[in-house]
Parts: sequence; C-alpha cells; structure tokens
Amino acid sequence: MKKLLTLIIGILLIVWVYYLQKPYINSKVDPISEINTLILVNSENAFPDNINLNLVTFQNKKVADIIYNDLVNMYNNALNDNITLKINNAYRSKDEQTQIFENKMNDYENEGYTKEKAYEQTKLTVQVPGYSEHETGLAIDFSDEGHYDENEKMWEWLKNNAYKYGFILRYPEDKYEITKIDYEPWHYRYVGKKAAKEITNKNLTLEEYLGGNV
Ligand SMILES: [Zn+2]
Repeated sequence: MKKLLTLIIGILLIVWVYYLQKPYINSKVDPISEINTLILVNSENAFPDNINLNLVTFQNKKVADIIYNDLVNMYNNALNDNITLKINNAYRSKDEQTQIFENKMNDYENEGYTKEKAYEQTKLTVQVPGYSEHETGLAIDFSDEGHYDENEKMWEWLKNNAYKYGFILRYPEDKYEITKIDYEPWHYRYVGKKAAKEITNKNLTLEEYLGGNV
C-alpha cells in the first residue's frame, strides 16, 4: 500500500514538473509570439536571426500571428468609422530587405555616386538589412496603394485609436533625434495594449519607453 502511494505521488510529481516546464519549452520554439512584442529593432539593434516567426496572412500581407486578432479588430472598428485600413507593407524577410536596399543603392551608383556614397545615401531612406522593423512581422505601413500623401483621414484615425489595439505610431514628429527616422505617419508597430497605451498617452517613442535598454 505504501509503495503504491509513493508511486502515485511520484507520477503526480513528474506530471507537475512537466507542465511547469511546458511554457518554457514553447517560448523557446516561438519566442516572439510568446514573450517579446517589445523587441527593439532600430539602426543600432538588429533583429536576431535565430527568432522563429509564426506568420499569418491578412490582406495578402504577412504579419506575426500574435498581432492578427488585434489587427482584425482594429480593421473592423475603423471600417465602422468609414476608414479602410489598407496595408501597404507588413512583414519583409531579410532577403527582401536586402533586395530593396541593393536596388536603391544601384540607382544611386547609376547616377554616378561612389559605392560608399551610394550606401550612405540609401541608408537615409531604407533601413540596412537586419535592422528593419518590418523583419519582425510586428510593423505595418498603412496607406492606399502607396499614395502616402492622400491618407490624412486614415492617419488621423490611427493616431487617435491604434493604441487601443496595441499599436503605436513608431516614428512620431519631432523625435528624429531618438528614432533616427523622420516622421512616418503610416508606420505602426505592435507592442501590446499596455505598452501602447502608455507610449501614446505620454507621447513617447519605443526607445524612450524601454529606457535603460537602449
Ligand atoms: Zn514601415
């Protein structure tokens, strides 16, 4: 009888330890979906190559699976206000980013720039491969077919509402010194609802919010 009791307790212990370990094992397989919506990717912080992204499709664009529900909610609620949130860019692989960067660099070289000058010039408008937020699957450019100057109503709506769904205006006006990127009213970044609310209410950038980690 005593042996049987010990055996049962032993089995229960093993099951308990297994379930305790489970979330840890899952977060290793898919860390960005599990834990890190606050990942910082900018000109000084590359997106790590070893992160295994789970991507899903919305409007024929790929996004990280963890933002899907909030993105769809935001889309539907904007639609109620007669705003169609059209996605122009979402996830880009490092290879795709490399292609965009090289194409732009080639354009400058064809204009007579040296390789070094072309690289510096390209960096002003295109993020260096590995350093683009679009590689995280958490960033979205909203616009109507790339007509960035005809979307005032959409951007106004996003500015007032996106935080409710966990998104922030990533490159606000007058924050170039911190973000190193000019104002981009179309570029939104998912950080989760709690962070988005604080960042938006206090008019912060992600860099400022993360403070000491920068
Ligand atoms: Zn963007």
